[in-house]
Amino acid sequence: MSYVVLARKWRPQTFADLVGQQHVSRTLSGAFASDRVAHAFLFTGVRGVGKTTCARILAKALNCEKSASAEPCNQCPQCLEIGEGTDVDVQEIDGASYTGVDEVRRLQESLPYQPARDRFKIFIVDEVHMLSQNAWNAFLKTLEEPPPHVKFIFATTEVTKVPVTILSRCQRYDFKLIGVDDIAAHLQAVLKQEQVEADEAAVRIIAREAAGSMRDAMSLLDQVIAWVGGSDEHLTADGVARVLGVAARSVLHQLGKALVDGDAASCLAILSDLAKQGFGLQHVARDFLSHLRDLVAAKVSDEPERLLDLADSEREDVIALAKRCDADDLSRLYLGFSRAFDDIVRSAQPRGAFEMALVRLSRRPPLLHLDELLRRLADLERRLGGPAGGQPGPQGGARSSSGGPAPGGGRDQGRRASSRAEAPTERTDARVGSSAAEASQAPAPAAPPAPTTPAAATPAAPPAPTTPAAATPAAATPAAPPSPATPAVPPASSAPRQALDPADLDQWQALVAKVAAHKPRVASIFEHAAPLSVKAGRVVLGFEAGSFIAEQAAEAEARAQLQQAASDHFGVPTEIELDLGGGHPEIQTLAAKHSAEQAARLAAAREQVASHPLVKDAIEVLGAELRDVRLSRTPT
Ligand SMILES: [Zn+2]
Repeated sequence: MSYVVLARKWRPQTFADLVGQQHVSRTLSGAFASDRVAHAFLFTGVRGVGKTTCARILAKALNCEKSASAEPCNQCPQCLEIGEGTDVDVQEIDGASYTGVDEVRRLQESLPYQPARDRFKIFIVDEVHMLSQNAWNAFLKTLEEPPPHVKFIFATTEVTKVPVTILSRCQRYDFKLIGVDDIAAHLQAVLKQEQVEADEAAVRIIAREAAGSMRDAMSLLDQVIAWVGGSDEHLTADGVARVLGVAARSVLHQLGKALVDGDAASCLAILSDLAKQGFGLQHVARDFLSHLRDLVAAKVSDEPERLLDLADSEREDVIALAKRCDADDLSRLYLGFSRAFDDIVRSAQPRGAFEMALVRLSRRPPLLHLDELLRRLADLERRLGGPAGGQPGPQGGARSSSGGPAPGGGRDQGRRASSRAEAPTERTDARVGSSAAEASQAPAPAAPPAPTTPAAATPAAPPAPTTPAAATPAAATPAAPPSPATPAVPPASSAPRQALDPADLDQWQALVAKVAAHKPRVASIFEHAAPLSVKAGRVVLGFEAGSFIAEQAAEAEARAQLQQAASDHFGVPTEIELDLGGGHPEIQTLAAKHSAEQAARLAAAREQVASHPLVKDAIEVLGAELRDVRLSRTPT
């Protein structure tokens, strides 16, 4: 006796039997009732959701000898032959293989003839998007002027590949993925008929694995029943999980519990067991992600039963665990794991990626409740002796005195750019998690930038202690912050290669600054020049041969500007000579000098900000981290 697979054996025979596609069966039944049956149908949807089955039922309904309604009798020769695929008037065509010119011509020629026996000549074309251009043309001609005795039923998984000319002539039906509940109920019915005992949880695993496809569900059921064999053993969740290579919900539940409790060691032990048993960890990760989703749903919903595609016992476990968790913590776990999930799936080392995700999430810092956070802020405020949220004090400003004519200047204290600490916190609306472990999304709005001081401002006797314009996330700049031990700003020209002696270099800087006052664009040309010699009466500048800057420097206006400035500066007529013959990499240009200074300032500012007590407190109290320090203005 040959074995008939369950999917065929229990294929629905009437629209009423069709699972999960009530919208389709209702519309088709209505069309029959009102005698408005179209001549061409297009069934779309993913594989295994009942398109071909529905096409056969429709063909039977159209041709049934006994019934002219939407429900075929399933007894007359027409019904039986269509069910077996042997009816001469009902042709089932596979779009993928129906490409031959001869076949298409034969089809075209046969169309005008009346059906041999049935009411209608019906063409069921599966995977219609695979048809050749020839075949399309043949069908299109007929679709445009359909003979009354011809019906077409097209089925496709890829409706976007069906030509619009065809689409517009068909009545379209979209088949949906079938819900886990519907699939599970159908499987239960089949199991009962087959006299196989099964736990509800076992059936649920199959229904979930089928991912909306009834055909897949039936194939999986075949596989599972074959495993049980002739024994009277009934289907258990663990057994089914093992056959299908799915981690049992009980294991996922253990893993979830360990994660919620922050027990990294148990997480790894469970994962190790799964790996040893040969489970595909990417598959486990997918199931675990949906388990975490279930926990969140169970936590926030008043009717979790409706949101969880789980067997009763599994659902109870999930609800119980969710009950003792915090909704924000659960959603943080979900978000964190869903981010890790992509890595796990793509990684060549899924186990490592999975493990690291579990460890990271297990070690997530506790969420701080808002009142706790407020308490800590108040504490911080008290310690600093000022109200939170005050305006940043003027001492937050920066002073800049670069370029001042102070050749021997060793103590260039004024040259301190204002800097801004961006210390992002976790969400500050309801809860604040500490550290950027998992939940951190975008950085919280940074504190208002410190007031900037234009470079041109005169260094107006700076007060002794210099204060970096640090700001806490809560913008709690105190009235009088303690002055930190300011690390000395490294000398600007820490490692310059300078051919000019310092006095001449200062002359050169002053000259360029003078030009900049009137013609900043011209000045910027000379900032890129190598000052070869800067003396009263003669200034020699080197440029890289053929460079854009060299061309610009050679322009009369630029030169005249510089010559004028130089003559004024030295008090004697001063010639400007340009050496356009070659580069002078050994000589530092002002531009290079400035960018080196800038880098040094940034490094110093960062160190200063990081060591500022206010920032240290913010990091400690809010669990923030110092991500970025920016100089507010580049001194020129
Ligand atoms: Zn019939």
